[in-house]
Formats: sequence, C-alpha cells, structure tokens
Amino acid sequence: MAGIYIHIPFCRRKCHYCNFFSLASQKLKGPFLQAIKKEIAATQGYLAGEPVNTIYFGGGTPSLFRPSELQDLFDPTPVPSRPGNTSPPDPSPRGEGRNMPVFSMEITLELNPEDVTEDYVAQLKGTWFNRFSLGVQSFSDEDLVYLNRSHSAGQALQAVKLLQRAGYENISIDLIYGIPSSSGKQWQKNLETAFSLGVPHISAYALTVEPKTPLAWMIAKQKSEPVSEVAQIDQFNMLMEKAKKHGFLQYEISNFCQPGYHAVHNTNYWNGIPYLGIGPSAHSYNGTSRRWNMSNLSKYIEGMDKGGPNYEEEILTPAQKFNEYAMTSLRTMWGFEPGKMNYELKIMNYELIRKRAASFVERGFMTEQDGVYFLTDSGKLFADQVASELFILE
Ligand code: SF4
Repeated sequence: MAGIYIHIPFCRRKCHYCNFFSLASQKLKGPFLQAIKKEIAATQGYLAGEPVNTIYFGGGTPSLFRPSELQDLFDPTPVPSRPGNTSPPDPSPRGEGRNMPVFSMEITLELNPEDVTEDYVAQLKGTWFNRFSLGVQSFSDEDLVYLNRSHSAGQALQAVKLLQRAGYENISIDLIYGIPSSSGKQWQKNLETAFSLGVPHISAYALTVEPKTPLAWMIAKQKSEPVSEVAQIDQFNMLMEKAKKHGFLQYEISNFCQPGYHAVHNTNYWNGIPYLGIGPSAHSYNGTSRRWNMSNLSKYIEGMDKGGPNYEEEILTPAQKFNEYAMTSLRTMWGFEPGKMNYELKIMNYELIRKRAASFVERGFMTEQDGVYFLTDSGKLFADQVASELFILE
C-alpha cells in the first residue's frame, strides 16, 4: 500500500508560530493547480505500481479551493476496487498513473474553520472526501488572536456542527497546548469542549517556537511570555489523562482516537509505508529514497512547465532507515522492535541496542513485551531523546 500527499501552499495569513511552506498571496492559485496535475502525471513511477489507499490534502489551507477543484486533480473515472468495497468512488491519478491499482481509500481534507460554511459543506456533497481535519488549535478567542489564526472559537464550533449535520463523522480536530497567552484552566476547558463534540479523533501538539517566526521574534523582544516547558508537561499529562477517561487511544504521542478511527495516512508514515508528496516542499519516500520538492512556488510551477518538479533526493542507508524506524515506531502504540529490520542490517549490533533499550526499561521510560518496546507515559515526555539513544551511528 502507499499514500499520496498533496501540499496546498496558500493561507489567508501566516499564523505566528508557523514554519510550514505557505504563502499569504494567492495570485498563483490557477497556475499552481495546473502544475499539480502535471506532477501527479509525471511522478507515478516513484511508487512502482504500489496500490494507493490514502490521499491527504494538507497545507497551507486546502479549503481555500472548492472541493471539486481538488477532486478534479484526479481522474474521476472509478477504477475497479476490492470486492465488497462500499467506499466513495475510487479516484485514479491522470496520465501515466491511470492504471495504478487503488483500493478502498481514506481521502482526507484539511479545513480551516472559517471556510466551513453551509455553502462549503453543500459543495462537499457528492465529492469523495471522507475524512476531515479541522485546524481548531484552541477554543479561546484570546489564544487564537495570540496565534494570529484567522478564525474565532465560535467558527470552529460551528464548523464541527455543520460537518456533523451533513452526516460526516470521521472528523479530526487539531489543538495546540502550552500557549503562553493561556492557562492550564483554559487548556482544561479546551479539552472538555473537544471531548464533548463527538469527534472521533484529536491531534494535539505542544506549541513550538520555530526560528524566524513572528512568535520567536515576539518572545525575543519580550512582547510575549516565553513558552513554559513546565506548563507544556502539565498540559500534556492532562491531555493523556482526559483522553483515557473518554476512551480514546493514544495511538501516537500527539494523536488520539476512538477505536477504529486512527488516521490511516499518518499511520502509514510511521510504519515506513511509501508515499508520494506532490506540490512545493512536499516529501516522498519509497522505501529506498527520500525526495523533497523545492520550497518555492514560482520555481515549482516553472519546473513543472519544463517537464518535472525541482527536487532533491537522498538514497537512505540501512542505518538511516533503522534510525527513522526507531524515531517513529517508538512514538506509536505498536512500539519499537529492534530485530524488525534485521534482514537489512546484518552488520549492526542488536545486542547493544537491546542493552540500551533495557536501561530505559529499568529507569521506567519504557516497557518491554515479547521483544517490543513501548514508551511509558513518563517516557513519552522524552521520546526524541530516548529514540536518539537507540540510533545506530554510521
Ligand atoms: S493555517 Fe496552517 S499552514 Fe497556514 S499559516 Fe496557519 S499554521 Fe501555517
């Protein structure tokens, strides 16, 4: 199986913390769509005929486009699907990829709450989008102003209601914790609101101060309180506790769902399943190499006019693959199994890795069951550090 990610690099305005590639100017929207169609046609060979089971429209702000404009990037002709599949019509990419086998699909659309109007939801009807990820971030207007989001808390609540009223249930909301403008009490209110909405999936991330963002500038100039690590740890613990109470699985450190509602697309990333990234700044992985398109919209469009995307590529070494596996698998509820990649890594010393893992078990950061290691709740606070201790150095 494989996934396709489409990066939509436009936003109404830039959020203060954001370091994703996106532009507030929308003047290249038309040429961008044409370029995307060309890239879908030109890059199908990258997945070597692997069946695609997820498509994810992310950004940026995909909801700045009409749903039909995004769906039309793919060939609307249905392809025969797995027997018994009752999911929406299976899209097949245009051009060379037309014959790519496609099975029952998860097709996710990221939405900004201010775009989800009655009219927009009506436009979704009849399209094949079947999962929605809403960038809520907070239910406090004060936080939303601090983050420079372009929606209000009321619009976020309204967006969830409109989607649910239209019969969509596979909805995820994104939240951010550890916001300096906010208190633990507000975070508790955010969680209570989130779990009361009846959405089956919540992603929650600690606010990160990325270099060269307005947030970094605000903190450096003392126009904002710094981000408090202590507050972030408290709020993360509160999140894990509330999720458990509401029967949500923490299937990845930042991702919580009711059973059966995990994001297949993102889970595939963490399991090392190949994916093709389309659009400026998008990354691809096919089990052998990693590619990333240039983070420049004009150059991206120019490249596609000349016949191919401008990208860089690296061939992954066995140690790099192992380290990525350690980094991502440890964050999931399926855990890290050092011997899993043994066939590729004959030269590596597994006893050494097991010894290092055992020392984390002794210190209470991990548990072990049948040779698979899992982070404990306290280990989850240090996931990156633990994973990096397990890395193989070349
Ligand atoms: S909407 Fe998302 S991609 Fe756009 S600026 Fe805000 S955080 Fe970045």
